[in-house]
Amino acid sequence: MIWQLYSVLFFLAFHNNSEWGFFAHAQINELAVYTLPIDMKVFFSPQQDYLKRHATDADKRRYASAFEATRHFIDLDQYGEFPYSSLKRDFKADLYSYSSLEFIQYHNQDTLYLPIPGSVLNQQAFINWFDTTAMQYYYETVWVVPLSDTLRSRSGYEAVRIIDHLTPHGVLPYNLERVYRKLVRAFYEKKGSTICRYAADLGHYVGDATVPLHTCSNYNGQKTGQYGIHAYWVSRIPELFFDQYHV
Ligand SMILES: [Zn+2]
Repeated sequence: MIWQLYSVLFFLAFHNNSEWGFFAHAQINELAVYTLPIDMKVFFSPQQDYLKRHATDADKRRYASAFEATRHFIDLDQYGEFPYSSLKRDFKADLYSYSSLEFIQYHNQDTLYLPIPGSVLNQQAFINWFDTTAMQYYYETVWVVPLSDTLRSRSGYEAVRIIDHLTPHGVLPYNLERVYRKLVRAFYEKKGSTICRYAADLGHYVGDATVPLHTCSNYNGQKTGQYGIHAYWVSRIPELFFDQYHV
């Protein structure tokens, strides 16, 4: 997790202008309202100005939470070639397969970390423990989780350290589902202001997902001698040529 935080801080340090700029995000949120079915349009049309003004709220949160930054991109080239069949498209399942799990053993003054064998990781009881107990600790600075009584007596260890190798490469698609579910819940609960907030955020994240530079590790052309292309693509080009777009 420390490694993950370093990665996130690195991202924040060098990605200050790594989103669609405010102009493009505001346009996307505004225009999205015109594409809605009539019943939805009745609700969202009066909120168009709100959706526009809050189109980059999600970016502002990136500076409040290290986890927020990773919701705006995914480095798909980390996962081979399209259709990226190694990804299960399920957040917990992918987090489990792309994390390193180690038993923690306290020995005299030392703490030892012992890789957990695949035969243990494949056990359903262990997977269930990850999905329920371990996920509750996902946002901790250091991801250390106590084992259940059953797993403790079965393994002889008290706790597990988890090193997350998925989140630092971005979780944008999983986050779309997360925000979508929150939006649906807000509709069920008939909470108008919450609906608008999640709708503005969803418009933002969907907008980010349409930027090719948000879906690869060469996000700023740094690997191909095109350093700085990100800001040009997401800010300057839409600002200069928006009038010529067919929308
Ligand atoms: Zn963003």
